Amino acid sequence: MKQEPADLIIHSAKILSMDDAQPRAEALALRHNRILAVGSNDDILKLAGASTRLVDARGATVLPGFNEAHMHIFSGSVGLTELSLFGVQGFEAFARTVRDYAASKPDLALLVAQQADYSILGRNEPVTRHHLDRILPDRPFLMYAPDHHTAWANTAALKAAGILGGGDVGVGNEIVMGLDGLASGELKEANAISPVARLSQTGGRESLGVVTGGDPHSVTPEERQTDIAVIRVGLDYCASLGITSVQNMDGNLYQLEMLEEIERQGGLPTRIRVPCHMKNFMPLSELEEKAAPWRDRFNSDRLRSDFVKMFADGVAESGTAYYMEDYADEPGWRGEPLFTQDHFNKIVTEADHLGLQIAVHAIGDGAVHMVLNGYQAASEANGHRDSRHRVEHIETALPTDFRRFAELGVVASMQPTHPPGSAGLPLEPYLSRIGEQRWPHAFAWRTLADLGVKVVFATDWPVSPLDPMYCIQCAMTREIWKEGLPDQRLSLMETLAAYTRTSAWVEFMEDRKGVLKPGYLADVVVLSGDIEAVPFDQLATLRPIMTVCDGRITYEA
Ligand SMILES: [Zn+2]
Repeated sequence: MKQEPADLIIHSAKILSMDDAQPRAEALALRHNRILAVGSNDDILKLAGASTRLVDARGATVLPGFNEAHMHIFSGSVGLTELSLFGVQGFEAFARTVRDYAASKPDLALLVAQQADYSILGRNEPVTRHHLDRILPDRPFLMYAPDHHTAWANTAALKAAGILGGGDVGVGNEIVMGLDGLASGELKEANAISPVARLSQTGGRESLGVVTGGDPHSVTPEERQTDIAVIRVGLDYCASLGITSVQNMDGNLYQLEMLEEIERQGGLPTRIRVPCHMKNFMPLSELEEKAAPWRDRFNSDRLRSDFVKMFADGVAESGTAYYMEDYADEPGWRGEPLFTQDHFNKIVTEADHLGLQIAVHAIGDGAVHMVLNGYQAASEANGHRDSRHRVEHIETALPTDFRRFAELGVVASMQPTHPPGSAGLPLEPYLSRIGEQRWPHAFAWRTLADLGVKVVFATDWPVSPLDPMYCIQCAMTREIWKEGLPDQRLSLMETLAAYTRTSAWVEFMEDRKGVLKPGYLADVVVLSGDIEAVPFDQLATLRPIMTVCDGRITYEA
């Protein structure tokens, strides 16, 4: 009997398979949702039949589909419809951009802007509601810093949200007060931001996965359909960037069920993984009552919920990151962890006992230290297993803690778009905040990789732009902050692996995705040129021309 022909053959390509057994090839064939064969043009073209679609890559690079290992699909998708202040500097440009946007959206109850630099008005001019009132006196306006840990609201928005007079929003969160006894406009962390965010078109539902980990209290069928449509736009946007797998870093049942519905109605354009979020106010029983049953319910190769997400601290810029020693520019202040060590250890040990992977946001070296202590405690209590627990961001760590990542088998989840100086981010206030002593241990990709630690790369979208090629360019062009500091870049192949093979491994799916080899899932991206022939500072000019996820073409230029 003759073999069934391939559905799709991509030939005349420079395939970087990420498979050590056959790292380079010219062509590959796909059938159904699997890779049928990888090899030479001659061999692979023999698998064509009358119905096979042939794609001539014209010498361009073909990779396993990108696996974005840390992002926020719901808020990112909503952000696609809002104003971006990326690269906007100075009051005049800022005011003009916001006013133009406001004029174009006369009906929105809350105008929202993204990607506002902490120093949008200049280094020594912190944003207050008064600045925003000068731009938009009448309409509620909220704008987010790129990291989403700080936002600023004008007086109209603070009033409408009922927080102009301040309010208690819990440890690690703050409605910053001005000298006049009223809110200054600066809102630190999710609990402080959410009263304003709730006034938006999506009612702030996109941030619940981070803020409460719970579901919205009441959603009309129309609102739910709006949310699904928004997420669909975001998933298609992922596909257009060559992404075939998404590791979402916030979650609730609401999101999971919307994704399940998208999957039922025609299929998800990218694979997606969603965590159960564990907050410091949640009882330990949530793990058994939510995380474990979600793992059983959402366990396909396209939609999974199989890990726990937590926050150990906030961010450096707003002083909510937690360090072992004082902030360099703020003597007496180290930040506060969001959990006590003891509480954290209990949660981590229980999650680990249930066989769940854990991913914890930790920015300051104190938070990273606490997380490693927790993983060590879990390992001591439950015995060592192949847990692949992760630390997210790791902006700085104690020199003595890098080795512990390797010893404990902990994964480093890093974002090449985050080091100040990369991706258009200003150096200040960050460099002064952490201080020169910590610089050698900041964003230490190379240090960790050299110790044998598994490193995965991602963007933390919408914190940074989602485009993997831009992120890879940032990874390859990162500059040191000062002569003599270590070059923390990885090689191009290591960087690509951190976006494909290693990120599949961190999902426990290395037996079926992350490399291009026969039998593996058909997740492929075809680029517009040869990635090894392009100067590093122009990598982002390479665009995906075709994305295939699960054997289906999800994007074509
Ligand atoms: Zn994140």
